[in-house]
Amino acid sequence: MAAATARAAFGVQHIAKGIGRLSNIVLKRGAGSFVWTDEGRKLLDFTAGIGVTNLGHCHPKVTAAAQSQIATLVHGQVNIAMHEPMLSLIEKLKPVMPDPSLDTFFFWNSGAEAVEAAIKLARMATKKQNVIVMQGSYHGRTFGTMGLTKSKTVYSSGFAPFMPGVLTSPFPYCTQCAVASGSDTLGFENCCNNPLHELKVLLKQQSAASDTAAILIEPVLGEGGYVVPPPGFLPAVRKLCDEHGILLILDEVQSGFGRTGKYFAAEHWGVRPDILVMAKGIANGMPLSGIAAAKELMDKQNPGSMGGTYGGNAVACAAGVACAEVMQEEKVLDNVAARSKQLFDTLNALKTSPKTGHLIKDVRGLGLMVGLEFNSPTFPTLTPKDVPAGISSKVQAKCLQNDMLTLTTSIYETIRFIPPLTISEEEMRQGCEIFTKAVEDVAN
Ligand code: PMP
Repeated sequence: MAAATARAAFGVQHIAKGIGRLSNIVLKRGAGSFVWTDEGRKLLDFTAGIGVTNLGHCHPKVTAAAQSQIATLVHGQVNIAMHEPMLSLIEKLKPVMPDPSLDTFFFWNSGAEAVEAAIKLARMATKKQNVIVMQGSYHGRTFGTMGLTKSKTVYSSGFAPFMPGVLTSPFPYCTQCAVASGSDTLGFENCCNNPLHELKVLLKQQSAASDTAAILIEPVLGEGGYVVPPPGFLPAVRKLCDEHGILLILDEVQSGFGRTGKYFAAEHWGVRPDILVMAKGIANGMPLSGIAAAKELMDKQNPGSMGGTYGGNAVACAAGVACAEVMQEEKVLDNVAARSKQLFDTLNALKTSPKTGHLIKDVRGLGLMVGLEFNSPTFPTLTPKDVPAGISSKVQAKCLQNDMLTLTTSIYETIRFIPPLTISEEEMRQGCEIFTKAVEDVAN
């Protein structure tokens, strides 16, 4: 057995099966839009570690900031003292918040922990218990967030009971809605189960506003299928929250830090969250997450009720500061706009091509948070007979054979495209070529 294969076998033997993996590749290093395996194989990374290494693997400026901080102060525990990198990070984050009222911060390690922190804040501040989440949502796999995650049963099956007081309302997934009703173009306003109406019904039938602390939403549904809500939806939810004294929590763990072409996705609709949840791209791979809220709201918590040994780690915060600087210095949002167009042009061409068009149901997304949904025999309405079962995994496997990492998403047959936001025109061209070939191969 080759040494590299033996290494993979060692991992398979000793790493928990419950994790589940796309591949048994062993990664050794990364730079920019590429990773290298222990066998020296070079892979184009269109996953960015699930939307984390937004500035590319091992961005030199971020690496240097982390290296310098690790030699200065690694750990400054937040219940003991403040530390300098966290203060600098707050200075960087304040001006890019989707609303200037979001001026007070709490930092954690992971996205799920930050979501839990948001729920704790909402409950304590409102003295109410219930939380409404969206069908298809993903908020994490901890005990608190398992009950909030509604994208796939694998995340919760076998682990009940969960946090009580969680109710689910439909997200405007117009493609599926139109498919179910046999129409191509239903859209939000005429949607057969108009999600805003459902939300209002829920507040009348299942959870009175006086019992509802918060509505928790990903502005672009991530794990649920990379679904962009129609323009009126989030502003309407904001209005509903205001009318009923319910807090709006936006989970921007995946959509934040430039992923959708704006610093935060909320900006696309001018929606102010009461609590903003951040992680992933905040520190380009160093474990860091956080929530932001207005001081008046955040300070409703009792001192000592929040915190943890590692939250807001000094090295991770220093990396976060460097990330914010790179975002400005390298005009990363401009690159997102250009590369997004390049990607959409390719995917839309596949959708209209006589060779592959019959396979593709929908191309959608914002910035470099892009999904392509195949027609799916699993959900057969409007599905042509000549679509292979499990098509997204087949296309994904072909991409991998051709040295490109991609991710699927949702219970429907969807591939998501989350390359680094710094991806070059040539790297995007390469990725588009590999993907096009993979779809064409599967079509034949
Ligand atoms: N919220 C969203 C929207 C996410 O995409 C994720 C992770 N995919 C999480 C929360 C959980 O983050 P973590 O895996 O860091 O706990």
